[in-house]
Amino acid sequence: MRTALMGTLGFVPTMGFLHEGHLDLVRRAVGENDQAGVSIFVNPTQFGKNEDFAAYPRNLENDLALLEKAGVGFVFAPSVEVMYPTGFQTYVEVMGVSQGLEGASRPGHFRGVATVVAKLFNLVRPSRAYFGQKDAQQVAVIRRMVSDLAMPVTIIIVPTVREPDGLAKSSRNVYLAPTERAAAPVLYQALSAARRRYEEGERHPDALRTVMGAVLATEPRAEVVYLSAADAETLSELSTPTERPILLTLAVRIGRTRLIDNLTLETAGG
Ligand code: AMP
Repeated sequence: MRTALMGTLGFVPTMGFLHEGHLDLVRRAVGENDQAGVSIFVNPTQFGKNEDFAAYPRNLENDLALLEKAGVGFVFAPSVEVMYPTGFQTYVEVMGVSQGLEGASRPGHFRGVATVVAKLFNLVRPSRAYFGQKDAQQVAVIRRMVSDLAMPVTIIIVPTVREPDGLAKSSRNVYLAPTERAAAPVLYQALSAARRRYEEGERHPDALRTVMGAVLATEPRAEVVYLSAADAETLSELSTPTERPILLTLAVRIGRTRLIDNLTLETAGG
């Protein structure tokens, strides 16, 4: 119905405090659709009890100015009461791909993500929804949910936008004190070192994990939460060499800030 009347609608779900990473998704949504919309909602159900929900950075006024300039047609910035009114009791839980990595480190996180994204899709009814590769496991979870529940939306993935020194752009980067900010590129350095080894022919996941661990160990401020070399499709941790695409992921604490990053390794032409 809407397609006939209004053409395609591109949608970018965010938690706000927008940066160039978000804006890349937004530009794609604006450029590839007849209309584009963005949601800004810091979703309480995807934060653990001791996580940074209350402290999460917010700046709605600045976000709205950036989105207007980017040519977005509408912004949906609901209150918690609108998304989770009294009596709310339905959750979406994706099983397998939610369970390792971020899912293991942040219990309940992906249940919150899947639930809010499903509700946003129902409210906004986009033709295409845009997500960042920065959150690689989130991508896998959303793809699974959309496929398993036959949601009528096409998922588009956008590459990670980085600072010139390699640090993946993130709203949480504002938490970093100057000395911590100087240490933060170590995540991308670790991923890049493993990629170089892969390009030299290394295919054993143990060796790739060792390379990443060795680079991270050179930075005393970096405390590894997890470090993974997994099958890029199933996200199951690898124990033997493979020619299938490999997803390297890292979660590292620098001071009190928890950063994540990832790279996919695949053979040329793969
Ligand atoms: P967030 O506001 O952190 O929930 O992110 C909203 C969307 O922007 C998610 O799909 C993220 O994966 C994506 N995103 C966040 N940071 C980046 C980045 N540096 N590059 C590309 N996409 C990103």
